[in-house]
Amino acid sequence: PLKTVAVIGLGTMGTGIAEVLTRAGREVIGIDVSEAAATQAGAALETSLARAVGRGRLGERERDDALARFRTSTDLAAAADADLVIEVVPESYEIKQQVFRALDGIVRPDTILATGTNALSVTRLAADSAHPDRVLGLHFFNPAPAMRLVEVVSSVLTAPAAVTAVTDLALDLGKEPVAVGDRPGFVADGLLFGYLNQAAAMYEAKYASREDIDAAMRLGCGLPMGPLALLDLIGVDTARTVLEAMYAASRDRLHAPAPILKQLSEAGLTGRKSGRGFYTYEAPGSAVVVRDALTPLDGTALAPGRPV
Ligand code: NAD
Repeated sequence: PLKTVAVIGLGTMGTGIAEVLTRAGREVIGIDVSEAAATQAGAALETSLARAVGRGRLGERERDDALARFRTSTDLAAAADADLVIEVVPESYEIKQQVFRALDGIVRPDTILATGTNALSVTRLAADSAHPDRVLGLHFFNPAPAMRLVEVVSSVLTAPAAVTAVTDLALDLGKEPVAVGDRPGFVADGLLFGYLNQAAAMYEAKYASREDIDAAMRLGCGLPMGPLALLDLIGVDTARTVLEAMYAASRDRLHAPAPILKQLSEAGLTGRKSGRGFYTYEAPGSAVVVRDALTPLDGTALAPGRPV
């Protein structure tokens, strides 16, 4: 069961999910409206598999087999053969709804339709579908090949058999599935983003320096990374969008985005990807922090190059 999987949207998540699936023996049909994204996904898969071969984690034959199981298309109709469709198009209700509506006329009635949304309502997407019982959420974490958690999201309309089939698939992919209900952010992001938002607000209120806020959570709570460094990794703009969606759904003050997230986003200070966010990095995409004009409150400036 679930031998053939269509992954719709070959961006950050789609590319990673496609790799996980093809390495686990699934036939993967990658679909994107952008020809360039489809080509790039193929190239990224080749690079990633080559790296795995280089590290001795994958044989050359397995690599060739995995690549042979991956094909791409810019036509949604290519999803017709899929046992499971995983949609990871941008986090916009309108775009996702359009994809779900179109899929109704393409896939079999028993094909399971999974959304990769972070914070939109799975129930709302299901209610729009011709077969709402087959719609569920399948929430991978970035980067999908490395992160072990997968949240399997049921709506009140989801058939238990669909949940079982997808949970079994997640186990077969080497992931740890957790069963969750439909609420913005589910479990992991639902808890994480409120915390990240509070950290941003604390920094904005000049309650403590960015270095000390991050050190407190790393050294006091044993987290691998402080919240402001994590916001830079996630992307300040992405975090803002996720929080806005969570706040729109929950009206929980905890999720009302701290103004600094909006200001940094609008200034293009989106974090590591742009080279500057809460911290300044050596170059766009780099994880190496450099000294900048922001002097921490307590004067314990980071040594250049020290990881945060
Ligand atoms: P992305 O912008 O990197 O990729 C989206 C891709 O979808 C693009 O390649 C785009 O060309 C394509 N696309 C747009 N409209 C399309 C359509 N109608 N049909 C087919 N393809 C289309 O986005 P992403 O970061 O991969 O996020 C995708 C989804 O996954 C979102 O719902 C997001 O909330 C969720 N998600 C993201 C992360 C993350 O850390 N980036 C983590 C978990 C979940």
